[in-house]
Amino acid sequence: MTDITLNDGRTMPALGMGTYKIPDSQAATVVRAGLDTGFRLVDTAAFYHNERGVGEGVHGSEAFVTTKLWNDRHDDAEAALDESLALLGVDAVDLYLIHWPVPSQGRFVAAWKYLVRLREAGKAKSIGVSNFLARHLERAIDATGVMPAVNQIELHPRFQQVELRGWMEENGIVTQSWSPLGQGEVLGDPAIVEIARKHGRSPAQVVIAWHLALGLSVIPKAGSPAHLAENAAAADLTLDDDDLAAIAALDSQDGRIGPEPMSM
Ligand code: NDP
Repeated sequence: MTDITLNDGRTMPALGMGTYKIPDSQAATVVRAGLDTGFRLVDTAAFYHNERGVGEGVHGSEAFVTTKLWNDRHDDAEAALDESLALLGVDAVDLYLIHWPVPSQGRFVAAWKYLVRLREAGKAKSIGVSNFLARHLERAIDATGVMPAVNQIELHPRFQQVELRGWMEENGIVTQSWSPLGQGEVLGDPAIVEIARKHGRSPAQVVIAWHLALGLSVIPKAGSPAHLAENAAAADLTLDDDDLAAIAALDSQDGRIGPEPMSM
C-alpha cells in the first residue's frame, strides 16, 4: 500500500478504512480486523460517536488516525479536539479536519485559525478540511497563509468531482474520497461488474483501484472482515486505460449522495 506526501511534508497512507455508522461498541473489533488485513489509516469523527472504540482498536499500533471537528464546535475547536483525544486515548491525532464548512454559520475561517494553532501546539500533526468548495478553501488560505493538507469530499464513479479535484491538485491539496463506493450503490453498475470480471477481481476492488489510480486517498467503510480483506487487497490491482475511460464515463451531475456543502 502506497503513501501520499502531504504539503506539510508528512506522509499519509493512500488507502484507509472509514468508520461511519460503525457503533462504538463494535469499532475496536472492526478496526483491529482492518489493521490485521493491512489497513494503516482509520477515519473517524466526533460526529460518528465511535472514537472510544476506534481508539481501543488502534491502541498499540502505528495506525494513522483522522478525526473531525463537528459543525457546532467551530468556535470551540481546542476543547472539541481535547475531547476527541481523550476518547481516542492519544496525545495527538495524525490528521484533524473541519467536517463541513457550514457557510450559513460563517465560522469556518475562525475554525481554520484554531486548527492552525492546534497543529502548532502539537495536538494535530496535520490539519485539513472536509466538504470545502474552492471558494471556502480560498477564504481559509487567504486568512492564514496555511494550506489544508487534505480536503475530504464525496467522490465516487457517479460523482467524480473533476473540477474541484483539479483545483486541489494545482494547489497541492490531497483529495480524499468519502463514500468512495457510492455507499455500495456503484458496485452493481454493469461497467464496473464487467471490469471486475475481466480482471478476476470484485467490483469493490475495481472502484478502490480507480481512486488510487487517480492519485486520490480513499477510505471505504466495511463492516465485515471479508469486506475489509477484499478492500485492502485492492491496492495491488492495476486498471488499464480502457477501464479508466469506462469508469470516467459514469460521472453524473446528479450523482451526489450526501448533502451539498452550500446547503448547510
Ligand atoms: P462507502 O462508499 O465506503 O460504502 C460503504 C458500503 O459499502 C457499506 O454498505 C459496506 O457494506 C459496503 N462495502 C464495503 N466493502 C464492500 C465490498 N468489498 N463488497 C461489497 N460491499 C462492500 O460509504 P461510506 O459512506 O461509509 O463512506 C466511507 C467513509 O467515508 C465513512 O465510513 C466515513 O469514514 C467517511 N465519510 C465522510 C464524510 C464526510 O462528510 N467527511 C461523509 C460520509 C462518509 P458492509 O458494511 O456490510 O461491509
